[in-house]
Amino acid sequence: MTASQMAAQTSDSSVTNGRHADQREASPCEARPNGASRTAPRATQSALLASLPWLRHGLSYRIPGMGSADGNVGFGSPRDKDDAWAMRQQWCAGMGVDASRIVTMGQVHGADMLRVEADDAGKGATPNSEHLGLADALITDAPGVVLTTLHADCLPILLVDPDRPAIAAVHAGWRGTVAGVAEAAVSAMRDAYGSRPERMLAYLGAAIHVCCNEVGSEVTAAWRDRAASLGERREQAVTKPGEKEHFDVPLANALLLQRAGLLPEHIEIDPACTKCDGEHWFSHRGQGPLTGRMGAFIMLATEDSRGA
Ligand SMILES: [Zn+2]
Repeated sequence: MTASQMAAQTSDSSVTNGRHADQREASPCEARPNGASRTAPRATQSALLASLPWLRHGLSYRIPGMGSADGNVGFGSPRDKDDAWAMRQQWCAGMGVDASRIVTMGQVHGADMLRVEADDAGKGATPNSEHLGLADALITDAPGVVLTTLHADCLPILLVDPDRPAIAAVHAGWRGTVAGVAEAAVSAMRDAYGSRPERMLAYLGAAIHVCCNEVGSEVTAAWRDRAASLGERREQAVTKPGEKEHFDVPLANALLLQRAGLLPEHIEIDPACTKCDGEHWFSHRGQGPLTGRMGAFIMLATEDSRGA
C-alpha cells in the first residue's frame, strides 16, 4: 500500500487499497483528503507509519468553515493566533497528542536541524511561546514531544527509526531540497541515535507536485548539482511540459533519501498536490503568501498513551 489514506469520518465509507472508493478514479493531482469534518478533524496519515503502535502522527489540512481560517494552524501575521491555537488543539486531539507539547522551529529553507529533548516540549506551541530556534529539521528520541512543521506547498517529511526508536520532522521546499535537508536529517539521526538508514521509514506528505511546480533554471541547476552522483536518475525529478521546467520536490527527496540509504519500499509519497486541490490544502502558489498553514505532527507515544 503506497498511497496515503485519510482516516474515515463516516462508518459507511468504503476503503479500497488504502484509498476511499470515490478516489479510485482520481489522478494523483486530484487526490484529496476524505473525511473532512467540521466537528472532528482527523489528520491525514501515512499508511506506512500508521502501523506503528508506539507512534502518533498526522497532517492537518484545509477544511472550509473550520474555525475562523479553515483549520489553519499557523501563527504567522496577520492571522488570528488564538484561532490557530484552537485549531492546533483540535487537530492534535484527533491524533491522540497533547498540543501543549508541540515543538516548532523558525523555518528558513536551509539544511540545519535541532535536536529536541523532553524538556523542550511546548516551545512554539502556543501564541505566546518562543519556538526552539531557526532550522528546517527537528529530531528526537524523547517520547511525548510533538515535533511540528508548518507548510503551504513545501514538503513535510516524517522520518522514523523503529529500532531506537527516534523520529524527525523535516520542512523541505525546493531550497531545502537542494540544500540537502533530507540527507542531513538522516545523517543527524545516525550520529545522535545510531539510526540505521536501511531500517528507517519515511513519509513524504502532501505538497506541491511536479504538475504545478514550474521553476526557473536556477532551481533545476541547483538540483542537478546536489544530485550529481545520481547520474541520469536525477532527471526523473525534472519535467518540461512547456517552455519551463517543473521540479518534482517529493520525488527529488525520495531519491536523496535512497542515496542516504533508505530502501525504496520504506518511502511513501503522498499523491496529494496542494495547488491542484486548493480546496483541501493551503497552497502558497495557489492562494498567495498570506494563505494558512497545514501542520505535520509526529510524536513517540509515552507508555501511558500507547493503549492496547
Ligand atoms: Zn498539481
